[in-house]
Amino acid sequence: MEISKESLARNLALLKKMASPHGDIMGVVKSGVYGHGTQVAALLSSFGLRRFGVASVEEALELREYGVEGGIYILGGFFPYEAEAIVEEGFVPVVSHQEELESLKREGKRQGKVVYFHLKVDTGMGRMGFLPQTLQSSFFEDVEKEPFLVLGGVMTHFSSAEKDPDYTEWQFCKFCAFLKKWKLYDVPLERHCTNSAAFLLFPHMRLELNRIGIALFGVSPTYDPDVVRSPGLWPTTSIRARVKLVKSLPSGFQVGYGGTFTTRRKTRIAVVALGYAQGLFRNLSNNLEVLVRGKRAPVVGTVSMDQVMVDVTDVEGVERGDVVTFIGRDGEEEIRVEEMACRAQTIPHEILCSFRKIRHRFLV
Ligand SMILES: *Cc1c(COP(=O)(O)O)cnc(C)c1O
Repeated sequence: MEISKESLARNLALLKKMASPHGDIMGVVKSGVYGHGTQVAALLSSFGLRRFGVASVEEALELREYGVEGGIYILGGFFPYEAEAIVEEGFVPVVSHQEELESLKREGKRQGKVVYFHLKVDTGMGRMGFLPQTLQSSFFEDVEKEPFLVLGGVMTHFSSAEKDPDYTEWQFCKFCAFLKKWKLYDVPLERHCTNSAAFLLFPHMRLELNRIGIALFGVSPTYDPDVVRSPGLWPTTSIRARVKLVKSLPSGFQVGYGGTFTTRRKTRIAVVALGYAQGLFRNLSNNLEVLVRGKRAPVVGTVSMDQVMVDVTDVEGVERGDVVTFIGRDGEEEIRVEEMACRAQTIPHEILCSFRKIRHRFLV
């Protein structure tokens, strides 16, 4: 995996500019920074990113170990036994349950430290968050009374921003109504609802904070790369592996486990050192193109654990040791995460997270 520092810095600067003047970017860096490794969070921090979103306390602690400063928001909830670390480290927990609030209260008091937390409302995702109608005024009065608790922000999350504008607008309306009902418009708070899709597609939903994950890497939350290409975001990530062996097979020869491909001509096969153990989806068997010497060539046969076979008959001069590009550019050609996601019938997020299994990462 190669990660372009230049593209990452550019994307961050561009996204920050799009968020201003109303607000800022929270870089969502869960799942090991979308498979890029925690050092990339440290890199983003060095580029001036000041807010980071993670799924768990465990991930938050890992960021701190890598020297990431600034606000670390726990988006995915937590258990009472994790409240101690949250308060100690000054993480910003997002609260979806009364028990979470109680444990923060206790811990804040015990450590004598003010705990800034964010409130999550479920406007139609059906996952974390309080349903708006279940929150009573006693909730806010309670928080008001607690010397060690401060409501620092309110958020919601969209379920279908990349594909359902009507539902997204409806969720946004519910969020606005909630803010209005509890007079949360008139106080200094970090309000946030956008993920990458909502941020890029619905500018009016950009608020004080914007939770950006996949777009940081120049990857679209949909199969359409124009969603990120048109605002000028660049892909940051390339996945490459080397040819381990090249050989000629006669016509009528089976290739790979299960014999799912049979040569129909004399075929030059390159065996390439990337497989499902490194994150290449097995359902891309016989269903993927890669770049070799600047040309597209098809994957043939089943993806193995650590290897995959490529038909390089039509590519001149392929040799053992050649670099094969699964994601990224080679000469004029490019393969994007979106293309691979479409072929694998999943979303670009899952493709990136899957390559988390790659052990060799290079900042270039
Ligand atoms: C993962 C996540 C995001 C970021 O989503 P992208 O589509 O990658 O931008 C935002 N908010 C929450 C709550 C998330 O879990």
